[in-house]
Amino acid sequence: MPWRTHSNQNQITSDDDDDDMMPRYTCGKTLKIVFGASYALMVFLVIKHQFRAYPGVKPRSVYEDDLRSPSLGADRAPPSHGRSRDEMLGNRLGYDDGGVDNIRVNGGVRESTRMKIQTTNEEDAVWDKLLVGPAKSPSKSNSSSGQPGKGVYISPKLPDYRPTDISDLFIGVKTTGAYHSSRVQLILDTWHSFAPEQIYFFTDVKDPVYEEKTNGHMVNTDCPDTHKLTALACKTSSIFTMFEKIKDKRWLCHVDDDNYLNVPELLRFLNHFDHHQELFFGRESINYRTLAIDRDTNETYRFWFATGGGGVCFSKPLTYRMMKYTSKGKLAKTAEKIGRPDDITIGFIVEILLGKSLTRVRKFNSHIQKMSDIPTRDLIKQITLSYCLNDRRELGPNVIDFRPIMKDDPTRFKSFHCTYYRKFGGMCPYD
Ligand code: UDP
Ligand code: MN
Repeated sequence: MPWRTHSNQNQITSDDDDDDMMPRYTCGKTLKIVFGASYALMVFLVIKHQFRAYPGVKPRSVYEDDLRSPSLGADRAPPSHGRSRDEMLGNRLGYDDGGVDNIRVNGGVRESTRMKIQTTNEEDAVWDKLLVGPAKSPSKSNSSSGQPGKGVYISPKLPDYRPTDISDLFIGVKTTGAYHSSRVQLILDTWHSFAPEQIYFFTDVKDPVYEEKTNGHMVNTDCPDTHKLTALACKTSSIFTMFEKIKDKRWLCHVDDDNYLNVPELLRFLNHFDHHQELFFGRESINYRTLAIDRDTNETYRFWFATGGGGVCFSKPLTYRMMKYTSKGKLAKTAEKIGRPDDITIGFIVEILLGKSLTRVRKFNSHIQKMSDIPTRDLIKQITLSYCLNDRRELGPNVIDFRPIMKDDPTRFKSFHCTYYRKFGGMCPYD
């Protein structure tokens, strides 16, 4: 089945002509004014059109220009891990409030089934915008729905309703032996204390020191300790396998070891959704469906995926249906089949094989994005944050815009954590 191509809606051809035309008119002031006004109107319409073509898109940032700059050269570009150039360019969506894309408030239904959780009026107003109609299930075909997931339906008031709490979560962190003392340690020093029982680290070595520090929550996956597609998919597969064994959790969330997972915000977010439904939350890298080719059949597929480096969450019913393609090493096989990394493979599984949709959530942030673009006052509203200390595109660190309140905090995660969540523990100064 042919898939829709994206016309270049930003292409504007009339600008140059108009530039040429303007000076040619010498016939009086009125005509000049009329032409001046038309020109201004045209520029205005052109700009408006560009922004409508990609809602929420900001003008190209210096960051993106740096990435495109030939002076950086291909050899200096960050590793692509099987990603296209556009995927590496990152998500261009803004940070305006809300957080879930393609919001369509489902008026009457929303009001009658609105789940009440304890929030402030201000939070209520923000969350109101997040309540959306039921996801339209795309039929099983080579293309997922042209639009990303329309989000989900809110929890009905079931008689046995109980809000999601920390014990309902399973949090898998992907790591590797070489990062235990740096990245894993930073997690232990910060957000680990939100949910020490729920967090498991999926690694590739036996490490008695961190076994002890995490109270036995280091899982040696026996996967290769490399950054290859199949090695990472092997590790992510182990996360699914363990979730299947644990059984009593509502949500599976998976993050990388360079994420800060704001668990209180995650819980607040998840509490607006019905965990009985098949839901997949994350943030897309690119503003259109990616493409993958099945190497066995040569079939081409287009679908949405969420960047693994920004964290993703799945409801239990969806996770269970995914098991067929993910657990016990099967994710690596599926990844090999389409030759794409684990996160893209997950998008393929959810959208193409299972006919469900990604719900795009702008509260998940990978370091593909420029961290300092998130307004400092909005950091606390993010579900995940990330960092890259040697961002080649930035020629320096890509970290959140947060004032350090202690030394030895290059990622700023300790300062952020201690400022907002001191009571949850952490390596905070003057404790
Ligand atoms: N990782 C891994 N094995 C490796 C390298 C990285 O399991 O050999 C994990 C790492 O711990 C992290 C994820 O893969 O959770 C992504 O790695 P990284 O942040 O270094 O690279 P990125 O893909 O974000 O550029
Ligand atoms: Mn990373």
